[in-house]
Parts: sequence; C-alpha cells; structure tokens
Amino acid sequence: MQYTSTRAKVSESSSHCLLAGISSDGGLYVPKSFPNLSGQYSLMAGENYVQRALRVLTPFFTDFSKKELDFAVRNAYGPQFDHPKVAPLRKLGAGDWLQELWHGPTLAFKDYALQLLPRLMGPARQRQRMEEEVLILVATSGDTGKAALEGFADVPGMRIAVFYPSEGVSPLQKLQMVTQQGSNVAVFGVKGNFDDAQTSVKHMFADPALNEVLLARGFRFSSANSINWGRLAPQIVYYFSAYADLLAENAIQPGEKVNFVVPTGNFGNILAGHYARRMGLPINMLICASNQNNVLTQFFADGLYNANRPFYKTISPSMDILISSNLERLLYEVLQNSEQGVQSLMRSLKETGSYQLPEQAREQLTGGFWAGFATEEQTRQAIRNASEHNLVCDPHTAVALYVREQYKQQTGDTRPTVILSTASPYKFARDVANAITGESLEEGAALSRLEKLGLPLPLPVALLQSRPVLHPQVLEKTQMANALLQFTR
Ligand SMILES: *Cc1c(COP(=O)(O)O)cnc(C)c1O
Repeated sequence: MQYTSTRAKVSESSSHCLLAGISSDGGLYVPKSFPNLSGQYSLMAGENYVQRALRVLTPFFTDFSKKELDFAVRNAYGPQFDHPKVAPLRKLGAGDWLQELWHGPTLAFKDYALQLLPRLMGPARQRQRMEEEVLILVATSGDTGKAALEGFADVPGMRIAVFYPSEGVSPLQKLQMVTQQGSNVAVFGVKGNFDDAQTSVKHMFADPALNEVLLARGFRFSSANSINWGRLAPQIVYYFSAYADLLAENAIQPGEKVNFVVPTGNFGNILAGHYARRMGLPINMLICASNQNNVLTQFFADGLYNANRPFYKTISPSMDILISSNLERLLYEVLQNSEQGVQSLMRSLKETGSYQLPEQAREQLTGGFWAGFATEEQTRQAIRNASEHNLVCDPHTAVALYVREQYKQQTGDTRPTVILSTASPYKFARDVANAITGESLEEGAALSRLEKLGLPLPLPVALLQSRPVLHPQVLEKTQMANALLQFTR
C-alpha cells in the first residue's frame, strides 16, 4: 500500500508516513486505495481483538513483515488493557450500545493507537535505514499527551516532548503527565489554549533552522498527533470490532447497517469510522458530537467552516478545538482528490479563519454524516440522566449520549447505534461528581464518590497519587523551541 498527500501528488510507504508524520508539502498522508473487508466482518465475530486488528491493519502496513506486525499488535493489546475484550460493548437500552474505549493504561481511547504506534516505529526506522533518533513532538488537549508518553517512554531510539495547555486540562490529566517516568520524556505546560500549543508545534515542525540544529544533534522530528497515519489506522479496528461483537451477540444480521456516535475534537476518531465504512463495514450514519465549541456542527449543516468564534473551555476539554486537523483528509476525498482544492481551502482557513465548501462537495457529505452539539448544561444533565440509569460516564461520552438522543428525536432513526465512550469518568472525576451530586468536591473526595457509585477505581489512578512531580515547567508559547533545545542538548 502506498500513500499520497492531501496537498501534493506523492507516493510513500507506510513506514515513511509513520516516521514523517506529516508530508513535506504540509499535507496529510492518505492511503491511495482502501482494502475491501466486507467479506471479513462475519469471520471476525469469532475472533479476539488482536486477530481482528491484524485483519484490518495488514493491508495498510505492507512494508512490515507479518512477524513484525504480529509482534507489535500482540504486545500493543496485551495485559496493559484491563478488559479481556479490549474494547467491550455494554448494552444500554433498546438498540443502543456503549463501546468502552478506556480500558487501556491511560484511561482514554487514545491508547488504542498509542500503544501500537511506538511498537511500529522501531521496525519503520529499520526499514527507512534511519540513523537519527526519532523526536516525537506532541501538542495535547489532555489525553493524547499521556497516552503518547506511556507508549513512548523508554522505547529505544525515541524521545518524546509533550506540550499541554497549562490551564486547559483536568487535574488528573495534568497529574498523569507531570508524574511521567522515563529517561527519554519531557513535559511542558504552555500558557494559552490547545490551538495555541498545536499551532506552535506545527511551526516548530516546519522550521528549517530548528530542524537543522536538531539533525546536527542526531534527531529527526516525528508526530504522535492524530494527523499521523499511524494514529488513524489502529482506530479503524474498534469499529470493526464493535460490529463483530454485535454479530456475535446476534444483535444484528450480517450486512445490517448501524450508526456510530463519536465525541469529536480533531476529527481523528470519527474519520477512522468513515474509513471503516469505505472498507465495507455496514455503517449508516456517523454522528459527530461536539461540545459548545461547535465549529463542526455548523460545517456539517451548511458547509461553512468558521473558526472565527469564541473559544470555550468546557468540562470535555479533549474536544475544545476550533481547528479540526483531520477534516483535511475528508475534504481531500469530497473534493475528488484535488490537491489544489485542499490547498485553496487551507489557505483560506489560514488567512481568514474560515472556508466555504463548494456545493458539489457538500452533497457528498450529507447522507453519511450527521452533526449535533451539547452545551455545558446539557452535558451535565446527560451525566445526571445516565447515572440515574446506573451508568457513570465521563463528560465526552455524555456529549455523545446527548447528541444521540437529539439525532433520534430529529430523524426518527432507530437503527442499532453504538456510542463511543472515549474516556473513563475517573479522568474527570470532579466534574462528573459535581454533575451528579451538585457538590464541589476536591479531587480525592470526587474519586471516592465515583467509587461509591459502584465504579471500581482503576489501578493507574490509584498508583498516581503517590508519584512525585517530575515535570513542573510552564512556558510561554515563545519559549517552546528553546525548551526543546534544552531537552536535546
Ligand atoms: C481526543 C478525545 C476526543 C476527540 O477525539 P478526536 O479524534 O480528536 O476527534 C474525544 N474524547 C476524548 C476523551 C478524547 O481524549
């Protein structure tokens, strides 16, 4: 399988794409074609997660040997996941299932990609005969940072530097990152919001002078953000896995179409669902759930992407995003693979903060995507409602639950629907406990409150409380490159 860029005609191998992260023309790598797995999802019903993952991933990683891929996938989805099914379904009401994507070591769905990506980078370096160390740069809205740190810590030939908005993540997310152990890791708070951190990271990536200095020191940049193809591909797996589980339970007939509801920020997770659909998985509607930062809701309504709007800090911070980077890949597709078309929209976004999708391209979106959003109060209400039905859910999942109801009411569609639960409520204990009880609790009290609601305290959270803070630094945006130079001295 070869990959091209959304902004130029190129032809690259998967190992190149994993290591480069982003194409040198500024575009994102996309596969030149998609394998058709419509003959395989029924077989997957009798398989475990590792077997399902190998079916989905093998066609994309053709320059890895079977042995390498097997080894990486088996180790990625091993005992660090605290559920034997890895991505289990939980039945909610009639026709609704929750897919719990937080059984990995950092309690958010990012683990599904970030436990695998580092394990592929070693073989990718060999394939590319790369002598330099890989320097992973991450801008995080909270969950990516920790998941990447956990995946890359102490992996030979790799270093990782994570930048998070210092006031934009939950207390537990911050604690997870600033206590990270490992001889090859650095973590920095940045004054500003996620978009500030992400924009600065993109600039560092593209800065020729900085790249040259680092190369002289024996480092080459790569990215573990969801723009890296190695982040997207592993996420396709759990859509297939959910469908296979529904088949195994006889909840659906083979070929029957289902909906997925996806709490969305950078558009990586839901795009993986779209790719699963292109690969033949019977998906009817992908429902894009946003919080108050509802730039995507408007985009799907009228084709106008407009980032010129207030930025809200919400209780679902991993979705506090105004520039959804992965949307570029979908644009490429609906613009009929026109690199010029993508370039012109991205130029408009950069220069004016907005773009309008041409009518023809818009038509291709309707029918496959539906979008809605939840305000803060609606999110809290959804947490409360869920808890009355014995479900303790995190705020991102609550946004999805709210939009799921909205969709049902507005369309009358009662197809089987899987709601992706992207984080454990323990990651956002204070806001969850507050939504349920109305009390403002300290972090510790909030954790025990969730335990009393019947949710077992995950081991990684229990261990966290006694870990020393190793990364206290908070920077101005302008100091980020300097911090990187210190780290690689
Ligand atoms: C990252 C994240 C999201 C958003 O996913 P995208 O792929 O960026 O759209 C939603 N919920 C949680 C808990 C997350 O960590």
